[in-house]
Amino acid sequence: VILDPPNLKPWQNVPVRQYIHDTLKLPTAFQNDANAAAFGEYWAGAGRGAHSMVLFTLGTGVGGGIVIGDTVVEGEHSHGAELGHVRIALTPARQCGCGRMGCLEAYASATSVVKRTLEALAEKPGISSLSAILHRGEEVSSRAIFEAAAAGDELAAKIVEDTAYYLAVGATNMMHTIDPNVVVFTGGMIAAGDSFLERIRWHVKHMAFPVPAANTRILFSQLGTDAGFIGAAACGRKLLKRLASKA
Ligand SMILES: [Zn+2]
Repeated sequence: VILDPPNLKPWQNVPVRQYIHDTLKLPTAFQNDANAAAFGEYWAGAGRGAHSMVLFTLGTGVGGGIVIGDTVVEGEHSHGAELGHVRIALTPARQCGCGRMGCLEAYASATSVVKRTLEALAEKPGISSLSAILHRGEEVSSRAIFEAAAAGDELAAKIVEDTAYYLAVGATNMMHTIDPNVVVFTGGMIAAGDSFLERIRWHVKHMAFPVPAANTRILFSQLGTDAGFIGAAACGRKLLKRLASKA
């Protein structure tokens, strides 16, 4: 059942799984996209072979998924693993897309990367090569910011470094909560590559307890945008196995 999705307002308490089941007359599993992506990476991607894994999806927002021992952690009210809405700032704090203050998403999403850059450019217009994009009347994308950082633009590099720091805060919070084998990041921003991943790892090393800091693998996704499909297949496979064991 879709309960109360913040980005799909008309979809309140919609029993989607039941509808699909009634229409297709087939066993039907239902999972949210970030949880499915996490299960996909766990089953066939960066988390393969691990017992426990945390996934952060970085896009317009920040999504999350937690898998422990082949089980997606959904929580008692299906609101678990909302890792984008773990609070990382007190006051003054940025406002999140969910309306709350100080969520990880308000700092580390692609949307926030652009927003923080535009704020800095508004304060000091001449500070960055990115101003030229605005002068052309075009929108500054997170990709352009990461590219400018790689090309040596100081402001862009600072924004990217701050983003790595915020993501490390999110990762460390999860490491200190469930102590997983693997933390995986996925989404458009991972196109920034190894140098970005290394900065996240560096900050985690300096923030986390020494034992998890030394042993938790921090990785980028292996399945990319296919993780959700593959994870959905894994959810279906798990349901069929469960039904078969009951029969
Ligand atoms: Zn939020």
